[in-house]
Amino acid sequence: MQYFNPETETMPRDALDTLIDERVRYTVRYAAEHSPFYHTWFARNAIDPASIREHEDLLELPVISGSTIREHQPPVTNEFLFKSAPWDDIYTIHETSGTSGTPKSFFLMWDDWQRYAEKYARTFVSQGFGPGDRVTVCASYGMNVGANTMTLAAHKIGFTVIPEGKCTFPIRVIQNYHPTAIVGSVFKLIRLARRMEAEGMDPKESGIARLIVGGESFADESRAYLDEVWGIPAYNTYGSTEGTMCGECTARNGLHVPEDLVHMDLYDPDLSSFVQDGKSGRIVLTTLLPEGARSGNLLINYDTEDITEVITRDPCPCGRTHMRVKNPMRDAETIHIRDIPINRVDIEAGVFQRENMEYLSGEYEAFIYSDEDTGTITMRISMECHNPDTCDNKLVEENILSTLFRQKPSLHPIYSDGTLEILFNVVQDGGLELHRLKGRPKRLIDRR
Ligand SMILES: [Zn+2]
Repeated sequence: MQYFNPETETMPRDALDTLIDERVRYTVRYAAEHSPFYHTWFARNAIDPASIREHEDLLELPVISGSTIREHQPPVTNEFLFKSAPWDDIYTIHETSGTSGTPKSFFLMWDDWQRYAEKYARTFVSQGFGPGDRVTVCASYGMNVGANTMTLAAHKIGFTVIPEGKCTFPIRVIQNYHPTAIVGSVFKLIRLARRMEAEGMDPKESGIARLIVGGESFADESRAYLDEVWGIPAYNTYGSTEGTMCGECTARNGLHVPEDLVHMDLYDPDLSSFVQDGKSGRIVLTTLLPEGARSGNLLINYDTEDITEVITRDPCPCGRTHMRVKNPMRDAETIHIRDIPINRVDIEAGVFQRENMEYLSGEYEAFIYSDEDTGTITMRISMECHNPDTCDNKLVEENILSTLFRQKPSLHPIYSDGTLEILFNVVQDGGLELHRLKGRPKRLIDRR
């Protein structure tokens, strides 16, 4: 199986752009007619839905955010105003775990599931999956859609799923069922490999042929290390309950965006204009419905608060024509030191320098403090070391600093003049603060 949907995935660019514009028109019309939120929103912003003719016209519309969704659902309103189909047509209800309190509600019809699953099915096929594969899914089966969507995609392709839901499953699962792939996060898959080694199983000899990573951004260096520990390629995916499901093909040069089903615009930081390809911008997405299709929940100009850049809209060596984007990063994981943006991934790239990994587990956390009297800003990076007594601290520190200054040259002057102080702290395995907190680990914490 080379493509899941050959006609769509290899559609020439001009035909794809025409299809996108058709679907923008249909989706906007559908939203105006079926979504109470969008019906009111078009009227309130004095926009005639029929004036939205092509994807560039989306720039005329306001951008909405997660808080817009929260403000249009209980307890703020009586009804769920983003729900765009009658209750009887809703198949499943979802919530995204809100870091900001109230979770956002999403309502999916079976049609929505079919489109979500097709996006993952395309990705899986582009990564070489086919009938006969057995995939252990460590993504969680909860109120989000990721793991369930993958499971439905498996049915479309014809492979077997082992729905573990987390990466702490017993090693016998690998011995007994011989999975050919595992879906998990970079850190969890590194930890799983360590656990297998501790139980006498070499990950490289385990029969696992590929890894699928997703759920959080990561540095190229940490993925390279994951590849090395397992001796197989790890492919990246980016998915969300909002409906972005993008994935890397075997070329591993960016994630293909399923452009016929989700429209992704990249905006400048103040959300007023598009950024050019090759420039970093905020991902603002719009659901695209095929002509005649229905949806329980659709979004137009939704700010994901994630950042990426378009690598290319040219055809990929894999034959797919859909555009490729860089691994998205979370804006919430970006802090500013004197106007210089530093993302968690920038620090991670330093930690995972190959020489460091002779000593480190890869687990790290960083805190930013400031001294109000002196104006000094302190970044303290803590890392787990297998044996703190024999850790080559100097080598680790130099590798992290040189990586950080190479990526962010403007940090160097303020480091040299003492405005920025960078401290390092090596702890034993399990000794980081993040292990004591529940939920998604926060690795870059601003305590100013
Ligand atoms: Zn490709």
